[in-house]
Amino acid sequence: MDLWFTEHHSDNARFSMKVKEHIFSENSEFQKINILDTYEFGRVLVLDGFLMTTERDEFIYHDMITHVGMAVNPSIKKVLVIGGGDGGTVRELTRYSTIQEIHMVEIDEVVVDASKEYLGFTADRLSDERVTLYIEDGIRFVKESKEIYDLIIVDSTDPIGPGEGLFTTEFYNDCSQILGDNGILINQNESPYYSDTREQMIRATSRLKEVFPIVEVFQSHIPTYPSGHWIFGFASKSLHPIKDLKIEEWESFGLKTKYYNTALHQGAFALPTYVREMLK
Ligand code: SAM
Repeated sequence: MDLWFTEHHSDNARFSMKVKEHIFSENSEFQKINILDTYEFGRVLVLDGFLMTTERDEFIYHDMITHVGMAVNPSIKKVLVIGGGDGGTVRELTRYSTIQEIHMVEIDEVVVDASKEYLGFTADRLSDERVTLYIEDGIRFVKESKEIYDLIIVDSTDPIGPGEGLFTTEFYNDCSQILGDNGILINQNESPYYSDTREQMIRATSRLKEVFPIVEVFQSHIPTYPSGHWIFGFASKSLHPIKDLKIEEWESFGLKTKYYNTALHQGAFALPTYVREMLK
């Protein structure tokens, strides 16, 4: 009998993929973790029934969550990643020889261990000597940290369960305290299409605006996320994502990226009218 994985994208819409093999399953202290091998999307990581990462389309998410900030400030040296247990964001960051320190704070060690074991395509750079992994709650880490970062990437689950506190004004305020004057915060900011994620996107964006003087959102097409239309937030005390984009400097890194490029960077901030209106 065929085995299918199905995610509920709304009360009335579902997204399914045919499963080759169920590779890993564990209930951690925080969430239910599954790794499947699928015909269309390769290996996939599922947390509490929601797709986090797939072998085929993870490059889109990880390019956009990493390179947009790096191209606005190519001098970034010290980075904090909150969440990101599959390792894909850290993998992209380690490609910059100019980055000196990467701190990753992931609440769930089981996600990290399972990703190292079964998702080598994203987790293969967690052993880079510039990476320090903290297994703890990112909310507490940011509140108590005395460090100053150039870039904070909030690579979280949705605002339910352990990820809920990563979408609050209080958390964004705490992030602002540990960001330098040219600091940038990038977050995965949900989707405008279905009603649940739409409300989450609107709320998170307006909370970012309560804290940061510059807040813009940018979009990308991620086939396995609800509706395929995904939004990221860009927040900074001083840098604008388009006016301060350093095209030549970023291109001089010579990084080969599969999705990101500096023309797309500029286009990604041009939003459909219905999205612009909901964020007014
Ligand atoms: N690409 C993904 C997406 O948007 O669907 C996100 C992937 S990553 C696996 C998300 C990680 O955030 C999970 O491993 C989860 O354990 C972690 N996480 C959730 N809440 C957290 C918290 N409060 N502190 C640190 N990590 C957290």
